[in-house]
Amino acid sequence: MPSVVRVAIVGAGPAGIYSAEALTKGAVESGRQIEIDIIDRVPSPFGLVRYGVAPDHLSIRSVRDTLDRVLAEPNVRFLGNIEVTGDASVGVESASLGRIGRVSIERLRANYDAIIFCYGAATDRNLGIPGENCVGSLSATQFVNWYTGHPDTAPDAWDSMLGSARSIAVLGVGNVAVDVVRVLAKDRTELEHTDMPEHVLGALGESVVTDIHLIGRRGPAEASWTTKELRELGELANAEVVVDPSVLNLGESSRRLVESSKVVARNVEVIRQWVQQPPRQTKKRIHLHFFRRPTQVVVVDGAVAGVELEETALSQDGQVSGLGQLHVMPVDAVIRSVGYRGLPIPGLPFDDSRGVIPHVDGRVMEDGAPVPGMYVAGWIKRGPSGIIGTNKKDAVNTVASVLADLESGTLPTRKSSEDVAELTGSAVVSHEGWQRIDAAERALGTTRSRERTTIHDRVDSISIATQAL
Ligand SMILES: Cc1cc2nc3c(=O)[nH]c(=O)nc-3n(C[C@H](O)[C@H](O)[C@H](O)COP(=O)(O)OP(=O)(O)OC[C@H]3O[C@@H](n4cnc5c(N)ncnc54)[C@H](O)[C@@H]3O)c2cc1C
Repeated sequence: MPSVVRVAIVGAGPAGIYSAEALTKGAVESGRQIEIDIIDRVPSPFGLVRYGVAPDHLSIRSVRDTLDRVLAEPNVRFLGNIEVTGDASVGVESASLGRIGRVSIERLRANYDAIIFCYGAATDRNLGIPGENCVGSLSATQFVNWYTGHPDTAPDAWDSMLGSARSIAVLGVGNVAVDVVRVLAKDRTELEHTDMPEHVLGALGESVVTDIHLIGRRGPAEASWTTKELRELGELANAEVVVDPSVLNLGESSRRLVESSKVVARNVEVIRQWVQQPPRQTKKRIHLHFFRRPTQVVVVDGAVAGVELEETALSQDGQVSGLGQLHVMPVDAVIRSVGYRGLPIPGLPFDDSRGVIPHVDGRVMEDGAPVPGMYVAGWIKRGPSGIIGTNKKDAVNTVASVLADLESGTLPTRKSSEDVAELTGSAVVSHEGWQRIDAAERALGTTRSRERTTIHDRVDSISIATQAL
């Protein structure tokens, strides 16, 4: 093993950055020199902390300040605007202002002693119902990407929908669905303090939506939202929650859940309070619907006209089943929020049923054996679950395996020491480059008396990052 150990981390979200932090700590403790490159396909670090966590949750988003300190460590390099691909024929392709650089896993394996895959689970699951991909039926992933200013999303992607849809169905009852509903229900003035790009604030400000329907297959006790997020829906200035009191007639399995979980009991209590409060005659309404399973998105002349829902019931052991009674709820648009899902990188082992890379203790597994030098952490290891902090413990566990393999001599030795940053060219975003983007976003923010305004455009970001000092 060369005296300097080189580790590539694919993905600069929480899992990637916490892995770098744990490796750095391990290096200090073992007296080893470990050089770490964190590679990301977008020009900025932080993954879903930047392009997922709701912009109006400023305190949660501020975790990026903690993550940023890891990127400033002398043994850590951030290499933004480089995509890692399974296509071996790519080798290394340089980045330019308008093009993402690429590097193959094969090339990484030749130049690093270990690779930790932390590339997340950033696509959406399908419902598998007719009409779900028609015009006006979109995924929460697309909506979240747009309102957080992800560079892959066109600025005007939601203008037409928001400018015409008066009623929107949001399918799914988790925290992401709650984020989506809250953003739709807020007025521009309630979002001005966030870092949303100007075009997003503009389109949300022009939105004509008055009725948002949040639809779950099971009951209020089974929804997977957290109480704090749920409660916020009832605290909006211009929107009130509407819910049928009958949803509180809980069945046996739901009552057991309420008795066994404080969170579930609190959630049901929040809904009970909404049922009891008098109407506020607000501009917008958030309707909560439970025990309804979407069976198709109703399409007329190629556009959404409604969503067909089947009534459901829970068995004594909490299994949901359809009752065969169908109703069409007329809506102008549908946002599907039924979970995020990881994608395979060709050539990497992948468990398609779970959307994760198979592993044992963070070691990537193929045909029952660990693939030497390949590791995994974060959502692409566990699936889309847990909070940001869950990825820290997860990364620490994976890095423990890397360090153990390093000590036992089972890490493969790299064949060469090419510098991926040099090979991919001048449009790669370094940590200094990211700091310039950060400064530009803060400066843009002060013009609107807020902390920052996200720069969404990839070319703008790279120009700022790579400009001569
Ligand atoms: C909408 C939403 C809201 C959330 N809100 C909260 C919240 O309020 N509080 C909370 O605690 N948690 C929240 N979470 C969960 C939290 O964001 C995740 O736990 C965490 O981001 C997962 O970390 P990760 O590093 O595994 O993946 P990610 O954060 O997704 O990071 C993966 C990184 O890999 C990069 N990448 C992908 N493919 C490649 C490739 N081929 N080559 C190079 N780079 C690549 C991506 O660009 C990305 O930067 C939220 C999640 C979502 C989706």
